Parts: sequence; C-alpha cells; structure tokens
Amino acid sequence: MLRIAVVGSGPSGVYTAQALIQQNRVPGVRVQVLDRLPCPYGLVRYGVAPDHEKIKSLQNNLRAVLEDERISFLGHLEAGTPGLGPERLLELYHAVVYCVGAATDRRLGIPGEDLPGSHSATDFVSWYSAHPDTPAGDFADGALTARDAVVIGVGNVAVDVARILARAADELRPTDVPETALGALAHSRVREVHVVGRRGPSQARFTTKELRELGALPSADATVDPAELALDPAYGSPGTAAALPAVHRRNLEVLRGWTENTARPGAEGGRERRIRLRFFLRPVELLARDGRVGAVRFERTAPDGDGGVRGTGRYEDIPAQLVLRAVGYRGEPLPGLPFDARGGTVPHAAGRVLRDGIPSPGEYVAGWIKRGPSGVIGTNRPCAKETVESLLEDAPRLAERRVADDPEAVLRAAGHRPVVWPGWLAIEAAESALGASLGRGSVKIPDWDGLLAAADGSADGGTGG
Ligand SMILES: Cc1cc2nc3c(=O)[nH]c(=O)nc-3n(C[C@H](O)[C@H](O)[C@H](O)COP(=O)(O)OP(=O)(O)OC[C@H]3O[C@@H](n4cnc5c(N)ncnc54)[C@H](O)[C@@H]3O)c2cc1C
Repeated sequence: MLRIAVVGSGPSGVYTAQALIQQNRVPGVRVQVLDRLPCPYGLVRYGVAPDHEKIKSLQNNLRAVLEDERISFLGHLEAGTPGLGPERLLELYHAVVYCVGAATDRRLGIPGEDLPGSHSATDFVSWYSAHPDTPAGDFADGALTARDAVVIGVGNVAVDVARILARAADELRPTDVPETALGALAHSRVREVHVVGRRGPSQARFTTKELRELGALPSADATVDPAELALDPAYGSPGTAAALPAVHRRNLEVLRGWTENTARPGAEGGRERRIRLRFFLRPVELLARDGRVGAVRFERTAPDGDGGVRGTGRYEDIPAQLVLRAVGYRGEPLPGLPFDARGGTVPHAAGRVLRDGIPSPGEYVAGWIKRGPSGVIGTNRPCAKETVESLLEDAPRLAERRVADDPEAVLRAAGHRPVVWPGWLAIEAAESALGASLGRGSVKIPDWDGLLAAADGSADGGTGG
C-alpha cells in the first residue's frame, strides 16, 4: 500500500487526492489530506467571495472527493511546525504533496503603506470570509467609517473587495458572512469606491463576468472616466481592439457603457454608492491625515507605445480614509522546504520538489505554491494531474521506502490533535445552528476557539481522540 500525504485541502490538494485515487496504474493508494485549519477547501471557503454562491458551491464537489473511503482529512495539523516538518512527514508517508497555496499579499513598496486605514485586500477578504487568523473585530472598529475607499489593483480580487464594499448589508445577509462583519458592513459609511490601475483598461486582469456584475449592483453605480478610457490605445482604434484577446475586448465594451453614469452617490438619479474605475494611475505614496491614511497620491501614466506605461510627472491625489491593496498574492516559505523567493514558489520539475536542483525523492508540489497565484480554481486540476503523473512514475521507488503503518496514530501519540472528518461535519452543523439562531442560513464561525469547540462537540469528540 502506498501512503500519501497531501498537505493543504484547497482545490489543488483535493484535485491531487482525486487524481491519486482515480488512477489504476498503482493499486492500493491511500491518501491523508492535512490542513493547518480545522476546515477544508482552502480559498474556496476563505477567498471566493460570499456572494458568489455558484462558485462557493464547488465545495460540494470537493467534499465528495474528501468523503471517499480511500481519503481521510486531518485538519488542524500545520506542516513545517516543530514535529511536523518535511523530514518528519517523509518518515510517516511514502510521498508528500505540498498544496499549501500562496495566501500572502504582495506589497506596493511605497511610503505610507502601513498607515492605519491601509490594509491588504487579503486581510479584508479573510475578515469577511471569517478566516480564524483574522480577528473578527479587525474592520469592525472604524475602518468602514471611511467615506472614500481606494482599491489599488484591477484584477478579480480588487473587483471582489470593491463589490463587497459597495453592497448593502441586506444583499449579504443570505450569505455565510460572519455576523460581526455583516454588522460592520451594515454601518459602513463608504460611499465612493475608487478602483485604480496603473495601466489601461485593455490590460486590466479582471474577467468580463466580474466586471459586468459591478455594473449591476442594486445599490451602487459603476462609472468610468471617458477621458481615461480614451487614453487606451485599443479604445478608439478598431484595428488595435480587434487584435486584443476577447476578454479584454469585451471588458472595453462593458466600460464603454459606463461612461454615461455621472450621478454622484446619494444624489438624485444616483444610487447610494458609487464605484469609479480609474486607469493610468500609479500609486506613489499614501498620504497621512490625523495619523491615518487620508489620500493616495498617484502619478499619471501614459501608454509607452510598447504595451506598457511610462510616468508623466503629473500627480493626482484621491481622497481615501480606507485603502485596500489588491496587487497580487505570493507564497510563503514552509520551514524545511526549498523556496524560490523571487517567484514565491517551491522549485520543482513537473511537480517533483527540487533540492539543490535535484528531485527530492517523495516530495511534490501542486497548485499555487507550485506555479504561482494565477488561474481559476479549475486550473489547479491539470496542475495536480501533472504532479500525480510524476508521483506515479516514481511509485516503484517510493514503495520501497520504510514508513509508519499508521501515521495518524503516530501523530496522535506525539501530541497532535487533528480534527477529523466528523469534527469538520460538526463545525458545519454548528454553523448551521448559529445561522438558524440569527434567522439566517449557515453563518461562519470566525475564530479558532469557536471552530475547535464546535469540532469537539461532534459525536466522537471531533478530534477523534
Ligand atoms: C480572494 C480570492 C478570490 C478568488 N475567487 C475565485 C473565484 O471566484 N473563482 C475561481 O475560479 N478562483 C478564484 N480564486 C482562485 C482560487 O481560489 C485558487 O486558484 C485556488 O484556491 C488555489 O488553490 P490551492 O489549493 O493552490 O491553494 P489554497 O486554496 O490557498 O489552499 C491551500 C490550503 O493549504 C493550507 N495550508 C497552508 N499552509 C499549510 C501548512 N503549512 N500545513 C497545512 N496546511 C496548510 C491552507 O489552510 C489551505 O487550506 C480566488 C482567489 C482569491 C485569493
């Protein structure tokens, strides 16, 4: 029997586990999926926006995989911590596949970035997603008293956070947003959300579906400055536009339809809030006012004729008492595992972890920590498959390695208290009960103590011990 640990239960971890049990080249494979959290599904639970119910429902597909009898879930086990480093895991399993994601934010590297009121979009996402590492009170105590918010970045995460800021709390009540966050959003004074990119609209990374959704919110208008749109080389030139990828062409069309929206938020003919998409503005500094962020200074950029932009030496300050930086994610090193600091990934060859350039027997990677934070959930499936292909090729040699008969028992004997599947089901049940007590659907538990207590409330003790 080949015992394999998959570290991380996000999409790449679950797709890896699925590919391992669905193959028939190597019989008798058993998979244990470890996660540092007591809850599975990675960013599908803690990243995908709560109002994207359809994508959220992918959790049901991931769940079906984790419920296979050849797979077991061991939550609340963090690889890389003392007693659970890569060396130790290799003593327990024939192979270990690291699928730990890339959930740290990239920084802007400009003055004022750490002023109170300036946050990474990651933190904001984690807050409204009830990630237990983000205190529930974080954005509840003042951040949303801002009137103007600036979101720096024009990818889908920027669009997600802008949309959540622009929604009325009632629109989010049917979702699983934690109660504290819902209360804070209900009292939010944010009226204007500026979503700002340093390049032009035809280079923005958001997808058309997400963009359209911004223009269809019940309580916010979406607008774009016609002059900034016109700056885009593809805007006025049908020939240039025709050469664009279809998604960028469609984005331009959507934005064209927004130029007429000129009503101010709350004014006659206008909705309560406004989302303004701004382009060709590069952030250079966050400006303080009364010890907090008060504005963001941008340098106006212009197309450089080569597909990029250049600075123009002209500046514009946009008022902002709340700034969310959404300029990308990056991986973090896992102690004991090689790491390429430039790319924020683990060096690999077709999924085989490279130590000093040489494949390390029994160690693999998949997902964002393998290829960097890009692509949609489905992109992780072929990525996981490639890794599993490599692992299966190596299987004869892996099977020769002497490993523990019952890794879970060894971990328990060493003092670890994993949350097993019934514990996770107990968390789900507690979240349903919490929601019912609030007159809502399922509502997420936002803190470690609450999650672990809920897991413990399961019939077999949740931690299974
Ligand atoms: C804010 C946001 C919104 C998104 N929205 C969408 C969307 O709407 N549609 C879409 O298709 N894609 C979306 N994506 C992209 C999608 O979430 C990713 O493609 C996908 O989650 C990456 O999968 P992963 O398994 O590599 O990483 P993750 O999903 O991050 O999973 C990594 C898992 O590893 C665990 N882990 C980390 N370190 C350790 C450790 N040391 N030990 C044990 N476990 C560990 C984590 O707890 C986590 O469960 C979004 C991404 C973000 C950031």
